[in-house]
Amino acid sequence: MYIKLKNDNPVNLRNLLTFLDENSIKYFKILDENYIKIALLYIPKIFDFNSFKKFEAFIEVFDISKQYKLVSREFKNQDTIIDIKGHKIGGDNFMYIAGPCSVENKDMLNKIAQKAKSNGAVALRGGAYKPRTSPYDFQGLGEEGLKYLREVADENNLLVVTEAMDTENLDLVCKYTDIIQIGARNMQNFSLLKKLGDINKPILLKRGLSATINEFLMSAEYIIAHGNRNVILCERGIRTFETMTRNTLDINAIALIKEESHLPIIIDASHGTGKRTLVEPITLAGVIAGANGAMVEVHENPECALSDGPQSLNFEMFDNLSKKLEKTLLFRKELKNL
Ligand code: PEP
Ligand code: MN
Repeated sequence: MYIKLKNDNPVNLRNLLTFLDENSIKYFKILDENYIKIALLYIPKIFDFNSFKKFEAFIEVFDISKQYKLVSREFKNQDTIIDIKGHKIGGDNFMYIAGPCSVENKDMLNKIAQKAKSNGAVALRGGAYKPRTSPYDFQGLGEEGLKYLREVADENNLLVVTEAMDTENLDLVCKYTDIIQIGARNMQNFSLLKKLGDINKPILLKRGLSATINEFLMSAEYIIAHGNRNVILCERGIRTFETMTRNTLDINAIALIKEESHLPIIIDASHGTGKRTLVEPITLAGVIAGANGAMVEVHENPECALSDGPQSLNFEMFDNLSKKLEKTLLFRKELKNL
């Protein structure tokens, strides 16, 4: 159950919250369009909802029709805006993230970071722990890669986005990163999702390879229900019968999730297409569909990349995309005002 409260008097609000504490009711509280909304996460078996009526702040008890609750617009209509060291994502705030698939060495990372910065990216991505299909493929540099990411990002005034693959390496990844990426293959790793609830850093949750939109939102629900409300969704394509692209990027999902959820969602056309020539048009399409950010894989020499070379942009393509992205964002603003 959920309750809606007036937010005009702190004393009245405090009285009701104290009542919840006294009755051992666990809750999750947010501000939404000048109201306080409270999700009652644990209610004792014998509890009379009429007892709320005596409180000045109380407006109504309501229910949410969807399976996902805290991520839904039924619970919170206002867009969630996440502030990461002064860089915002959500609402009208767009976040551009670029970098190699894997951190290979410090020098390559530094060249890509400088390029990313000059092209308007605010965050540097790169995997230090890589979930590879083959055990014989490059698995990432581990902590050495995390150190390079932190150093290079700091030198270039960028945020770090990198993947945590399991509960064991989560604390280590947290030490170095600003945003924790949870990869497609881990979208339904529920023990990991629960642990992310305790983490004080935003989570970039990628859609699973064959996850429905409902399942995707339910995974975000796990993280929020366990205490971390800073979740950024990432549409990175799903597996379909199509074989000419690595995945099929689900543009529908971007527009639909914007309707269904207050959380920011970004587009990753690198994994969504698997083909560098498609990254520009599909990124721009995702932006028009409403994405709150874009993530792209970039490499100075993609033919020699240790992972995901075929989908990595070279510097010239990255420059072109970045120019068009800026124009597309302006165009989107115009469309909104039509
Ligand atoms: C990546 O971002 O390099 C990656 C492994 O992504 P995904 O989990 O979407 O495959
Ligand atoms: Mn990759």
